[in-house]
Amino acid sequence: MNINSKRIIILICGAIVFGIAAIIISGCPHDWIDGIWNVWSEPTCQVPKTCVICGATEGGVLPHDWKDSSCKNPTPCSMCGTLDGLELTHEWQADGSKVCVYCGIDLRPSDERFIENLEASLEKRWELMGENPWYGIQTAEEWNAIFDTEIALLEEFSEAHFENADLGKHAKKYIGILLKAKEELGTLAFEEWLQKYYDSFRHEQNSALYEMSLLCEISVSEENAEKYSELIESGKKIVSISELIDGFRYHNLGSYAGNYAYDGIFENTTDYDFTYFICSVEFYDKDGELITTKKFTFYNWEPGEKITRRFTLTDSSSGERVVSIKWE
Ligand SMILES: [Zn+2]
Ligand SMILES: [Zn+2]
Ligand SMILES: [Zn+2]
Repeated sequence: MNINSKRIIILICGAIVFGIAAIIISGCPHDWIDGIWNVWSEPTCQVPKTCVICGATEGGVLPHDWKDSSCKNPTPCSMCGTLDGLELTHEWQADGSKVCVYCGIDLRPSDERFIENLEASLEKRWELMGENPWYGIQTAEEWNAIFDTEIALLEEFSEAHFENADLGKHAKKYIGILLKAKEELGTLAFEEWLQKYYDSFRHEQNSALYEMSLLCEISVSEENAEKYSELIESGKKIVSISELIDGFRYHNLGSYAGNYAYDGIFENTTDYDFTYFICSVEFYDKDGELITTKKFTFYNWEPGEKITRRFTLTDSSSGERVVSIKWE
């Protein structure tokens, strides 16, 4: 090795030492080196622009690169290969319903989807009941099977947002009635459930169904049309009976020797003739304690007929509640 080569090597080593010293003292010289060599990597959707010497980054990551976002043939990101986070575009049905013709996704409002499932749940119920009337269903297993089928179709709507708030209210009530009936069936002996709750469950359910039928069209198959109108008729009757009950009035006539006399005014505001109508009314004092339960019975009660019944209480009541009714 001649003297010139040695000098060059010493010079290069010196330059390297100087360069390293410069990097240690002043940090990475990527800014000025970049003027000569490209020391920055290209940014991707995963990593930002990065200095290949020191790993410093600049700017953020790029958005994913998806060429086709249709649900029919979505393309993964050209950089990272993911489909996660891609907002798919769909092809809606010709009638404008937000049901995709390719993937079947259903983005219709809850209102529409609920009614469709309600119709399906009624058809399922009638399928399970066969030709039996409701009182022909004699076991808890059969009732459970009916409830489970209906609940499976409807439960998802119990927290849903409905565009028609009234429909949403009745729909949620309807679902709540079903869930409660099933729960009670699970905790009581079947005979007890049948006696105590079956009528009120059926009445509440039919009246909620009737209220919904006033708000939107509920279509059932032709073979079940008659069964459907029976439910609606029953619901309509229950709604008018509950309006009749809301109309009951109790007038305090004053007290004598610790007894308070009352006139109960009962008017048949419905369009129905009742052979008999029996209702039990609970009376409460101002602390909400039950004073007593009175039973009122009306025979051959005609539409529009107003009946006054006098009775006494040992305390002046501040509230009352009809707890059970029976009629024929
Ligand atoms: Zn750097
Ligand atoms: Zn990506
Ligand atoms: Zn689609």
